[in-house]
Amino acid sequence: MTFDDLQLLPALLQAVREQGYTEPTPIQAQAIPAVLAGRDVLAGAQTGTGKTAAFALPLLQRLAASGEPPKRGQFRPIRALVLTPTRELAAQVGEAIKAYGKHLKLRTVVVFGGVGLNPQIEKLAKGADILVATPGRLLDLADQGHVDLSKVEILVLDEADRMLDMGFIHDVRKVLALLPADKQSLLFSATFNDDIKALAASLLREPQHIQV
Ligand code: AMP
Repeated sequence: MTFDDLQLLPALLQAVREQGYTEPTPIQAQAIPAVLAGRDVLAGAQTGTGKTAAFALPLLQRLAASGEPPKRGQFRPIRALVLTPTRELAAQVGEAIKAYGKHLKLRTVVVFGGVGLNPQIEKLAKGADILVATPGRLLDLADQGHVDLSKVEILVLDEADRMLDMGFIHDVRKVLALLPADKQSLLFSATFNDDIKALAASLLREPQHIQV
């Protein structure tokens, strides 16, 4: 299997080549077609397996393939939300999405706690197609009216087990309540205890199960 077999847009294939990747990892080979087909996904994958590209590439493709091309100065609603447990992971995922999406006209903004709110508020005010966020900071920004999640089409919970281990379940549930019911959801987790299974059961609709 090569990346060319995955029906990705030329702009994404070019970015993948520029990253120096030659073939998809097992999680990518399985998740990319499922996400492109619009399926919900429940993926068991450790860090280091290439899981970021497994959700980022098809997410970028779905956003690029649908929706209006951005007009100059027009406010763009957030269409994809990626939740991560830590600021380090949020920053890392944000950089990966920007690298994979460098030949597409989509804007990615990253927000996390422990730093000032104002620079993040300013970035959000310019509009974002993709928001990568930690749950607590996202809720703060949403409570203050700086984020509208009502147009989200794709949700990713990355390292969901760590998110719950860190005590974010209530924050995650509050975020989920701000999202449309009709959306595509992807849940990535290294481990699956009863709490993760309950979260998955309440969120995912006939998910494709992937384990690597
Ligand atoms: P992740 O599991 O998403 O944190 O990715 C782990 C590392 O693998 C990152 O440094 C990626 O840049 C790299 N990577 C992801 N996909 C591929 C691929 N298909 N071929 C080679 N390296 C990859």
